[in-house]
Amino acid sequence: MPMKLICLIPLALTVSLLAQDADTVLINGKILTADAQFSAQQALAVRDGKITAVGTTAQIRKLAGARARVIDLGGRTVIPGLIDSHMHAIRAASFFATESNWAGVPTLAEALDRIRESAKTKRPGEWVVVGGGWKPEQFKEKRFPTQAELTEAAGDHPAYVQMLYASALMNQRGLDALNIKSDADLPGGGKLDRDASGKPTGGITGGIVPLFDRLPRPTLEQRVEGTKKFFRELNRLGMTGVSDPCGNNVTPETYEAINKVWRDRQLTVRVAYTICGFNPPHEVEEYQKYLGLMPMGFGDDMMHFNGIGEQIVWAINNVEKPNPADLERFYQIAKWAAGRGYGLTFHCGTDAAVDAILKVFERVDSEVSIKNLRWSIAHLNDASPASLRRMKALGMGWTMQDAMYFSGEEAERTEGAAAARRMPPVETAREIGVPVGAGTDAHRVAPYSPFTALQWSLDGKTVGGKAVRGPEETPSRANALQAYTQGSAWFSHDDDKRGSLEPGKFADLAVLTKDYMTIPVEQIGGLESVLTMVGGKIVYAAGPFASYK
Ligand SMILES: [Zn+2]
Repeated sequence: MPMKLICLIPLALTVSLLAQDADTVLINGKILTADAQFSAQQALAVRDGKITAVGTTAQIRKLAGARARVIDLGGRTVIPGLIDSHMHAIRAASFFATESNWAGVPTLAEALDRIRESAKTKRPGEWVVVGGGWKPEQFKEKRFPTQAELTEAAGDHPAYVQMLYASALMNQRGLDALNIKSDADLPGGGKLDRDASGKPTGGITGGIVPLFDRLPRPTLEQRVEGTKKFFRELNRLGMTGVSDPCGNNVTPETYEAINKVWRDRQLTVRVAYTICGFNPPHEVEEYQKYLGLMPMGFGDDMMHFNGIGEQIVWAINNVEKPNPADLERFYQIAKWAAGRGYGLTFHCGTDAAVDAILKVFERVDSEVSIKNLRWSIAHLNDASPASLRRMKALGMGWTMQDAMYFSGEEAERTEGAAAARRMPPVETAREIGVPVGAGTDAHRVAPYSPFTALQWSLDGKTVGGKAVRGPEETPSRANALQAYTQGSAWFSHDDDKRGSLEPGKFADLAVLTKDYMTIPVEQIGGLESVLTMVGGKIVYAAGPFASYK
């Protein structure tokens, strides 16, 4: 008996000491915890993917085990990994290996070079595609490419360049490949643009979503490759999480690639996803029959099901005055979702359209409480205080994007400068106490960089450089960052696991090229990560940390 005790006691001690040893420590930095106090710390300890302590370098050094990885930050700033609360990331990812990307490209000449480079990688007959994420105002030349320029750059390949969901430009090979000779050949009421003499210019306006669906889809192999690459690209920009709202051009097959990457344990960004109806006008049956099999939250910490949205009944999508029968179907689905404890996010462009939607949610809530389900409205750039108060009363949140980065001038033209000054009203929402998540809505209608969106949230300037938003709706740097971290984590019920750098949370973080808190605002858009961790695992490393790859 005594022998056993002697053996057991030291063993127990060793185990408990080991349990406290950190396997990774980050020291000598400026760690923005983005916790409730928004404190800055020098150092942070990680064990088994989770943060075990934050503090001074001296305190944290003591926690490092003998074999711990010690990362000297050299004074660099660390932020919680950024989370986009509304990014069509699954779709963007599946096209990332095959599309050419114009996000942030400063000149049309360079954009056309990207078409040339993309064409070089294609086999004969394969398409060159730009799927959105750009506006002509970003170019020094301030204009669209012409069909002749596109034809020259794409060589023998059919080519398609989409701008938002508004228009597209195709070369003749592209038009021939899709058999488009007149407006009658275009889906969804699209029209061929014509010059003064009536000759088609290669431009197409309207019907862009069904037109895109006519392009050949990448193979599963290409989509898997794109998914891995896109998430690494997001890691390069300090991102560790997204909430994906399904959306246009997404089909059940779109999920094959992300499901494979997840199953293979190669996801480097945490994904929470909601599901749209795919078969209008049969959304009620579709949701109840098939989605009903999926429990809320199903998945793991890398990927989980987060409910329904952002298009639920397609007939009320972007409709200011929906017809009562469509609203009734929406009510049936919302009530069904509430009864099952599902999350729900709903795409709503304008305050004029949200009243009918909130009435449905208020009706549902009077029958089945939705107050703890964290339902949300996406977009709503002109949200009125009254709508925000109604959302608050329902326990709902608001996912806010940098749509005005591309559309600020247009909002000034259509809504007036005074209204555009308060778009989107993030400070009003904060005062009212509505949870706000930040994000982009990328990759067709916005670039995907969180730093572009963060700079815009602080300076209110459009891609063309025009300051549209006023100081009354401009957040502090700390609040803008918190919306992109803790704020976004709320929408997938993950705010107790990530979104701030505190003991017990995942070590999801990014070490930045420069200090977000002190650099001039106009440099924020150019920030990148030099070291990104997801669950303590290094998923991106560059510059001084390149050897950690
Ligand atoms: Zn949307």
